Amino acid sequence: MTDFNWLKALFITLSLSMLAACNEQDNNEATAATESSKTYRWKMVTTWPPGFPVLQKGAERFADNIKAMSNGRLNIKVYAGGELIPPLQTFDAVSQGTVEMGHGSAYYWAGKVPEAQFFSTVPFGLTARGMNAWLYDGGGLELWREVYKPFHVIPFPLGNTGVQMGGWFNKEINSLADIKGLKMRIPGLGGKVFAKAGGNPILLAGSEVYTSLERKTIDATEWIGPYHDQRLGLYRAAEHYYYPGWHEPGTVLELTVNQHAWDSLPADLQAIVSNAAQAENVRMLSEMEQKNLSALAELRQRKGVQIHRFPDDVLHKLKTLTNETLLEEAEKDPKFKRVYEAYQAFRQQNDAWSDISENAYIAVQ
Ligand code: CA
Repeated sequence: MTDFNWLKALFITLSLSMLAACNEQDNNEATAATESSKTYRWKMVTTWPPGFPVLQKGAERFADNIKAMSNGRLNIKVYAGGELIPPLQTFDAVSQGTVEMGHGSAYYWAGKVPEAQFFSTVPFGLTARGMNAWLYDGGGLELWREVYKPFHVIPFPLGNTGVQMGGWFNKEINSLADIKGLKMRIPGLGGKVFAKAGGNPILLAGSEVYTSLERKTIDATEWIGPYHDQRLGLYRAAEHYYYPGWHEPGTVLELTVNQHAWDSLPADLQAIVSNAAQAENVRMLSEMEQKNLSALAELRQRKGVQIHRFPDDVLHKLKTLTNETLLEEAEKDPKFKRVYEAYQAFRQQNDAWSDISENAYIAVQ
């Protein structure tokens, strides 16, 4: 081959490969352009009543933010509990792909997935700070995703109630003897522990809580914190308001996304959803804290409301009974045990750190 022919051959080869590269790039750009112009219309169902402050409103704000960030490419219509499906069918609806997204809390699915309770809250468990550390950076979220994988559901933390209140009682709780036979609306593992302490846990939907306490069908109820409790008017039905909410120390709220729907989203929209969920997780907790501190100030000024701390011996007993309950549940169910052990391992290290950080600091206030 002469130098000239060699150069000509090289030129042709280079031109062809550049052309091929350009075509490939064009194809990629065309695919990206199709994806970036495609509009997704999704439905999200929640477990909350219509207009429920902080929780339902937070889910709606999350959807609005996604719409703004995606320039309208991901449009999520949010339905409150009962508007499209009954509130407690949220998980199944997302799992079956009837809707693409759900908002609720993992302990609502305890009947189907008992170990899911650890991703929501357990009595005397981690607070919001600890839960975020475990979920985002301590392996908790990976474990949670494994637990939901057989249901084709991807979970994300999306809000936290903070430490709840212990509840409203129609009499003072001065010792364990005062809990014996007490009829209290207290769901989940907290209810099991309460039963072990001699109490009588009652299951009631949120809509029945006020009337039951007011008519003395129950002697006590827990709900959320000062803000939501005041809004429900519980101070009119019982005068003794107890803290701390040992049974719900930092309830994580969850976003659930149907796996197939998630896989259909382009990477940029997935990134928007995932980052919007992190942003709303912080926002909902912050809003809850601000509304609670302001409602506490109002409740303290209300005539007749008496705010008490549970006696130490009652709290210590409830804590011992909680440890027993969690161990018993773990012995019954290997899936529960696996999550329990991961949670406990993180918990031990978290407690050791909290003891010399936040707890030590708070103790000198
Ligand atoms: Ca509660």
